[in-house]
Amino acid sequence: MQIAHRIQQIAASQSLTMAARAGEMKAAGIDVISMSLGEPDMDTPVHIREAAKKAISDGWSHYGAVPGIASLRAAIATQQNSIAGNQIAWEANDVMVSVGAKMSIYNAIQTAINPDDEVIIPMPSWVSYSEMVKLAQGKVVAVHTKYEDNYCITPEQLRTALSEKTRMLILCSPNNPTGAIYNREKLEAIVTVLRDYPNVIVLSDEIYASLSYDISPVTLAAFEPLSDRLIIVNGVSKAYAMTGYRIGWLLTKNWPFLNACIRLQGQQLTCPAMVAQKAAEAALTGSQTCMEEMREVFAQRRELICRLAADIPGWKFNKPLGAFYLFPDVSAIGSGDVVAEMLMEKAHVAVVPGSAFGCPECIRLSYAISTEEIEEAMRRIKNVFM
Ligand code: PLP
Repeated sequence: MQIAHRIQQIAASQSLTMAARAGEMKAAGIDVISMSLGEPDMDTPVHIREAAKKAISDGWSHYGAVPGIASLRAAIATQQNSIAGNQIAWEANDVMVSVGAKMSIYNAIQTAINPDDEVIIPMPSWVSYSEMVKLAQGKVVAVHTKYEDNYCITPEQLRTALSEKTRMLILCSPNNPTGAIYNREKLEAIVTVLRDYPNVIVLSDEIYASLSYDISPVTLAAFEPLSDRLIIVNGVSKAYAMTGYRIGWLLTKNWPFLNACIRLQGQQLTCPAMVAQKAAEAALTGSQTCMEEMREVFAQRRELICRLAADIPGWKFNKPLGAFYLFPDVSAIGSGDVVAEMLMEKAHVAVVPGSAFGCPECIRLSYAISTEEIEEAMRRIKNVFM
């Protein structure tokens, strides 16, 4: 059966592939520790689960409005307004809820990009941005950031990458896979460059905003001059351990753009699951203690993994400031692909090769696993290289 050229050219998600491989090995009785997937290992907090059950009992079982339930959109706007430094007055009408932040990003790219439009993506980057740009027949302009810059794009690199054809810049802070955070100074410098390019849309993926450790992430909504071309993306997956609920959203003040996204979503999806939307609303409007507790757990695991990784010969890494990944440069030993394979075969530890993120010198380890598993995985890894 024919498979369209558009689909043939997209790669399978390597983090999902590695996780599936770890799953197969486990099923075959091999004691594999998977550090490959990007999702909190905690259960969804009880009050959110109860809200989902109540939504079922209350009959949230019909189609709903395409951009999401009004009360959830309002809660999202309120949450975004409460973020420190936010300078834009968000309203419910600026929000479209989708099936995960992944779909919000997909919708934004499909809505913005014409064939051959250029999209600047600082690398390393989350696996899906490039594939989504390719699906829209856009052109990925990969900017390779440096270890010394903590893998943040510099204003000079951005200026060099910008052209007449640039239609979008995608930023992700805190970053997957590097854990880097753009501080205010770095963002200000980027915004200054963008002032000379008023047609460039900025997509700011802030899905890890609640998971930061030494410094607070700065939302791009702190920069008012961008407001007519800014798209903020966020969701409940990482902050509230709700990956399986599949609720994410985008916010933009550019209503013609938002309406176009809503038109696309109307043809593609109708609306995200109503029960999941009610659960997301409970997450945003209920007590935030659960989120803070999960953040604290990740903060402790970060300390642990960094301490243990510092003892592994041939690894160098920047301490992650956010998210739940360690991204060591292993090039002193071999390519990230070779090292990831070695770890799978010899240590039975699944990690994702950096090539999946456009940085073949590195590997990504997720520390969204228990303390005991982190200790055991790092012990096994150390044995491979000692
Ligand atoms: N953005 C980044 C950087 C991610 O790492 C992920 C998930 O791994 C997503 C977006 C998508 O999140 P979701 O679709 O679960 O909301």
